[in-house]
Amino acid sequence: MRDYDENVDFTNIKFVVDNDLCTCCGTCAGLCPESAIQMMESPGGLLLPRIDTERCTKCRICVLVCPGWKVEKIWPELTDAYKGQALSAFLVHAVDPQSRLESQSAGAVTALCGYLLSCGEVDGVLVTEMPVDGSLRPKPFIARSAEDLKKARGSKYCPTGSNAGLRRVNLEESIALVGLGCHIHGLRRAEMNMPNRVSNVKVAIGLICEGMMGFGSMDYLVEKSGLKRDEVESLRFKNKKFGGWPGDTSVKLFNGEERRVSKKHRLASKFGFGLPRCMLCWDKLNIGADITAGDPWGICNDKEGFNVLIARTEKGNKIVRNAISKGFLVGELLDIEMINRGQNIEVRRKSCSGSLNAWKEMGRLIPEVPFDFKIGNAKFRKKQQKLLNQKLEQVNSGTCEEAFKFGCRCIERARQKKLLSLVFWKKSIHRLIRQLRNIAGF
Ligand SMILES: Cc1cc2nc3c(=O)[nH]c(=O)nc-3n(C[C@H](O)[C@H](O)[C@H](O)COP(=O)(O)OP(=O)(O)OC[C@H]3O[C@@H](n4cnc5c(N)ncnc54)[C@H](O)[C@@H]3O)c2cc1C
Ligand code: SF4
Ligand code: SF4
Ligand code: SF4
Repeated sequence: MRDYDENVDFTNIKFVVDNDLCTCCGTCAGLCPESAIQMMESPGGLLLPRIDTERCTKCRICVLVCPGWKVEKIWPELTDAYKGQALSAFLVHAVDPQSRLESQSAGAVTALCGYLLSCGEVDGVLVTEMPVDGSLRPKPFIARSAEDLKKARGSKYCPTGSNAGLRRVNLEESIALVGLGCHIHGLRRAEMNMPNRVSNVKVAIGLICEGMMGFGSMDYLVEKSGLKRDEVESLRFKNKKFGGWPGDTSVKLFNGEERRVSKKHRLASKFGFGLPRCMLCWDKLNIGADITAGDPWGICNDKEGFNVLIARTEKGNKIVRNAISKGFLVGELLDIEMINRGQNIEVRRKSCSGSLNAWKEMGRLIPEVPFDFKIGNAKFRKKQQKLLNQKLEQVNSGTCEEAFKFGCRCIERARQKKLLSLVFWKKSIHRLIRQLRNIAGF
């Protein structure tokens, strides 16, 4: 343990939440042997663990599985933590056109899970659905059929606490788990520190992740749809029915009507509701998964959608190839560097290092990561510090209303800054044209 950690109480995961390091992954709640942890919504729009101190026996299992404060070098041969190991990479889409249309990118995750269920490799898959009950709060569940998998389609860019669903898994049944980098880290830490408890998780399918947003982002998108919150049954952050891939946001009313919300509002909501913890996260490419799935950024713009897949383990490689040969996926091999470039991994490397250093300079407990992060330049660290402080203030607001208003103010400020920078560039270009004309003498 590091020397500056001596004042931290490592008895249970309370210190993770208190130090703003929680990723909302739900692993602690899923694996606490006393069921003493509940994932609860915070006023700032996060999903955080709450411990029932009467039940807690201080066994520290939650600390040992929590990826919020620590991720070990789980992969001994790892040389680049941002890219991870890749055995092969693919550009694919689901064979079933309906599934391709209704999924997030092109339905590869749903198709891979369908293949695993159909061949009996697993009995269930831990996935996350957006319920159609007006709650706008995603819920993890175990899908046991192709019909169940349909309910989980689509990305939820908000806290899900998916790994809390491990609590409901019968240890006799084999499962696959679908999750973001932090969910897979929770699983891998559990495999290292309490292997018997998760030995039934046979396959980990990971999603590429740039970061998520607090629940306020959904209130923001509902507001932009012109509807009231209580009129809304469900929301999809990206829906290809509206504009093709990657798709605008859609908001569904209880009467079945669907409203479209421009993607510019979804993009803007990141400025107001993006999580500070995600700025410290290095694992955009979900390097701990057997198979990583993502969008084909920088590779193709087909409106029907495509997926990129990275097979990271022998098991993952076999599953992808079998899913293709058994008619669940259509696909071709891809150069892995095209994915790394398309996902801007070098930008992530810079911004994550800058944020981790900024966090350290703010005197905060830094999460243990399986690599040395570079110091970077002071100006950039200052910029990251400002952004982190702004996001910390938003997620730690005392009430939902305050958190929402604060997030909206951040979006407005970012919009004005962007407008100003556009004016600046426009002026600079005009000045340059004038100078060139003067030189040319006309
Ligand atoms: C927060 C977030 C950020 C992302 N950022 C990027 C990015 O920067 N670049 C990129 O290329 N791709 C990103 N993705 C991944 C991308 O949006 C798709 O999820 C991926 O391409 C799979 O598409 P699909 O059509 O195969 O998924 P589908 O077949 O539609 O299946 C989606 C699966 O994802 C699961 N799921 C959805 N949301 C969550 C969640 N929050 N937590 C756990 N499981 C979930 C569902 O249970 C379902 O099984 C992100 C996804 C999320 C959730
Ligand atoms: S210390 Fe043990 S009993 Fe207490 S919350 Fe953590 S896992 Fe549960
Ligand atoms: S296990 Fe996940 S949800 Fe629990 S404290 Fe750690 S990061 Fe948060
Ligand atoms: S950026 Fe990292 S911590 Fe944030 S949701 Fe994605 S995987 Fe989890």
